[in-house]
Amino acid sequence: MAAIINVCVDPRLNHEVIRAQVRARLERLRLPAQLVYITSDVGGNLGVSFRSTAELVLKNQDRVEFAAVFHHDDCVAFRATSAARAPGTFPPPS
Ligand SMILES: [Zn+2]
Repeated sequence: MAAIINVCVDPRLNHEVIRAQVRARLERLRLPAQLVYITSDVGGNLGVSFRSTAELVLKNQDRVEFAAVFHHDDCVAFRATSAARAPGTFPPPS
């Protein structure tokens, strides 16, 4: 059972800390994930790495139990370019 978490490329984000936090949270939800994949793209947008990772998990006959996209405030990517977060990509407009 795998989890895929997509985050921003912001260098302040520590992937190992995020991985441990996600694993702990999923265990509390009784969704223990053996593999927690962290993917990243500018602004936390879904990109090639997320899609490729999902394909890899499925090719390995594993199941994606949990997927999440984290956006954050005070984003380095946002400050660098106004186009950092592609509008309407995630979450979909309500
Ligand atoms: Zn960011």
